[in-house]
Amino acid sequence: MPEIDLWGSEVIKDYEHVFKEFGLSPFPDKWKTRLKHRFFSRGIIVAHRDFQKVLKCIESRKPFINITGIASSGPFHLGHKVDIDLFRFFKEARARNYLCICDLDGYLSRPDKKMPDMKKAKEFAIVNAADALALGIAPQDIKVQSRRETRYYEFTLELSKKITKNMFQAIYGHIDLGKVAANLLQYSDILHGQLEEFEGKMPSITGIGIDQDPHARLTRDLAKRLPYSSEVPSFIYFRHQSGLKENTKMSASMPDTAIFLKDSKQEVERKIANAFTGGRNTAEEQRKLGGRPEVCKVHELLLFHLEDEKELQRIWRECKQGKWLCRECKQYTAKFLNGFLKKHQKRAAEKIPIAKKLVLEKS
Ligand code: SF4
Repeated sequence: MPEIDLWGSEVIKDYEHVFKEFGLSPFPDKWKTRLKHRFFSRGIIVAHRDFQKVLKCIESRKPFINITGIASSGPFHLGHKVDIDLFRFFKEARARNYLCICDLDGYLSRPDKKMPDMKKAKEFAIVNAADALALGIAPQDIKVQSRRETRYYEFTLELSKKITKNMFQAIYGHIDLGKVAANLLQYSDILHGQLEEFEGKMPSITGIGIDQDPHARLTRDLAKRLPYSSEVPSFIYFRHQSGLKENTKMSASMPDTAIFLKDSKQEVERKIANAFTGGRNTAEEQRKLGGRPEVCKVHELLLFHLEDEKELQRIWRECKQGKWLCRECKQYTAKFLNGFLKKHQKRAAEKIPIAKKLVLEKS
């Protein structure tokens, strides 16, 4: 049992009412040991819909579809790295892979002020694809939305006949046409892999945030009403990943809440120095009472990204005991992230020519 049980049981407790309301199943402990990745052992994956189908495929070495979509609406931050790290886990479990770089979605769902034309969305798509390649995704696993096969677009339009204006309004609270189009593309991304022109009928898995569940439910409902035989897609749900400031989300529109994969060493140091921690008012008080890693944004960064389990446990323990103070902890975290980012940025720069080909050339 990991020492940091808090991220499992406490978080599940926090989410219990959400699970009940939406009918989500908590991710069972018995599966966590069967899936060798920190996202499972550390309780970062909190819930699922029909994950047992995918687990069965993994354990019996049967094929399944691994599909994630990321809208090209800005540079990637560490929250996007989490999506890609999970995608890579399933890829390594021999999935059929669809990492969708969603340039059309990025353009359609963002206001003109932010995304004036497709050219801008494609510029983001190029840097996003380069980041994904640098994070270990193969070019053939990257599917750029605007470069897809005719059958993909046909299928997207077929889906439009399965959704009424009222259904859309009930789920999303509006019927903005750009967003309707973006959503159709997102449903298509998740479902099209099971068409006979692609992989054919088989289970599929997508990792999402709990707040995206209404979207997952509609996609699952669509799968049941298609004129094609298909498996209802499975989903797993991440616990909420907060921003660096108190009560914030990591967001591209508030740059100080997130660490971007393109951030300089100085930006990372500054953002971490200003992050919300679980430290006490003075060093003396912290030595006496210990810190509160359970509310600390710096510790959350380590929880999601530091692979070394023993080191994570040490930091948690020594913080609680008041032996490890925020100043050294912030320096440690900045150094750890900067070490990763330095290598990543070099790799991503080398991947730009392949990314340009994927985004700009006809497939
Ligand atoms: Fe957070 Fe580290 Fe301070 Fe503990 S020592 S509260 S983990 S910054």
